Amino acid sequence: MQRLVILGGGESGVGTAILGKKEGYDVFVSDRGKIKEEYKNVLKHFEINWEEEIHTESKILNANVVMKSPGIPDKVALIQKLHEKGIPVISEIEFASKYTNATIIGITGSNGKTTTTMLTNYIFKEAGLHVGMAGNIGDSYAKMVSENSYDYYVLEISSFQLDGIIDFKPHIAILTNITPDHLDRYDYKFENYIASKFRIAKNQGSEDYLIYDADDEVIVKWLKENPVKSQLIPFSIKEQLEEGAFIQDKKIIIKTQNNTIEMTTETLALEGKHNLKNTMAASTAAKLVSIRKETIRNSIAAFQGAEHRLEKVLKINHVQYINDSKATNVNATYYALDSMKTATVWIVGGVDKGNNYKELMPLVREKVKAIICLGEDNSKIIDAFGNVVDLLVETYAMEEAVKVAYKIAGRGETVLLSPACASFDLFKNYEDRGNQFKTAIKNL
Ligand code: ADP
Repeated sequence: MQRLVILGGGESGVGTAILGKKEGYDVFVSDRGKIKEEYKNVLKHFEINWEEEIHTESKILNANVVMKSPGIPDKVALIQKLHEKGIPVISEIEFASKYTNATIIGITGSNGKTTTTMLTNYIFKEAGLHVGMAGNIGDSYAKMVSENSYDYYVLEISSFQLDGIIDFKPHIAILTNITPDHLDRYDYKFENYIASKFRIAKNQGSEDYLIYDADDEVIVKWLKENPVKSQLIPFSIKEQLEEGAFIQDKKIIIKTQNNTIEMTTETLALEGKHNLKNTMAASTAAKLVSIRKETIRNSIAAFQGAEHRLEKVLKINHVQYINDSKATNVNATYYALDSMKTATVWIVGGVDKGNNYKELMPLVREKVKAIICLGEDNSKIIDAFGNVVDLLVETYAMEEAVKVAYKIAGRGETVLLSPACASFDLFKNYEDRGNQFKTAIKNL
């Protein structure tokens, strides 16, 4: 019997354990922290052995294969020991994909993964396809594979998941963009992070597709220097392409070898240039599996977007409040500010991941009327923008920030929470930050 050891007893770990058990492995789950009660119950139910608050090496180094939760860095001693012993250390998508014949659409990138994944899934569902959505989103992919037999999987895939693949091969890959993020896990080398993202195409062949942002210089340069075997389908909002998706006369044009479809951009539900890109990427994937143009067009007009991503909350006294709490880096905030159509009161701050605010400067000058800092340490924001806006206020709790915004914002203006920073100085996570924002608005 093959021994499958799972490091990390969270959603992906427990899901992998269930699938491993079903596929006849001797499964053992080990977590250095505490395992949640609900997951323990699942493990008990499936008669799977586990330990918590310890990694017992004798029970781990005898594995044939190890599935590591994406949260555990490669550098830790235990992982190094596994590498030395030649035991494969893989991710959930690698393991689970072995046990499904479904067509896989794999979506990665620095920003836009969740939105593009949800939109792709939505279009496929509207087309009546039997599709499951998983990866870094919702329920465990491995668990879904063990319980269902979908024809398609739309997977949101992080670079950490891609680091743990060997044979994983999506039929359709989407690379939304690449901007510096998570560099602490990549020896502070941007090249390592780029290489990790491109692993999505590593096992693709000439029958597979790579959809990517042709306006992204990092992607284009890398592809020139490191060709892939997949058929390339670029998308661009800047130029017209021979083949791929682009914009002409307010229409999205998607041109592939066999035909061309056109759809108006005027009825799109999601706003902003970044969402136009996400929409083009998802629609191209839909076209590649031959979904009808009418279905794609209706779906992209109806899709309501994901919570905490440029989410319209309420209008109060003719002021629109927008929750973009998921913007945890500068690039995401760039697109948020870019999509603002009115003068904006901008709530920003949190845990800075080495931000360079320079690229935001023109947008801030043009659109931002006041800045409300919301973080424990706001010094970098004050240094960057103190002289650029007329009004800058420091706050230390969401309720306070929203009250100040309410006072400052005038008729017809917008209050935007788009922090460009991680949330864990004042909040549990970005969802908590976004939810507190929405609650504070409702209490105004
Ligand atoms: P991810 O799952 O990659 O973090 P999300 O869809 O959750 O991506 O969006 C994260 C943040 O990035 C949000 O603030 C969103 O408005 C912004 N965003 C979404 N799509 C893009 C894109 N294509 N380019 C840049 N920013 C984006």
